[in-house]
Amino acid sequence: MSRIIFWLALVFLVIFAIRSKIREAQKRHQQQFRQSQQPPAPTPAPGYKARAATQAANDAEVMLQCAHCGVFYPASETVQANGRDYCSAAHAALPSA
Ligand SMILES: [Zn+2]
Repeated sequence: MSRIIFWLALVFLVIFAIRSKIREAQKRHQQQFRQSQQPPAPTPAPGYKARAATQAANDAEVMLQCAHCGVFYPASETVQANGRDYCSAAHAALPSA
């Protein structure tokens, strides 16, 4: 009798394992199906990379070097003194070496 119970339990376990595997595969298949249904990403027009590069160059700000400490900083933050560019008012106020 215990043998029959053992084999029944084994059969149930195998069936359960197979069903969970099938469900997993179905989920994966549905995800792939959904991803394939999404509209494809818009294809960039020719010359897209070149245009992106020029746009990045236009967006980039001119960098200046501080006459005192030598650090590079955006030109919009410059502090001019004695015809020289400085990174901060503190460096502009310091006597130039
Ligand atoms: Zn400085």
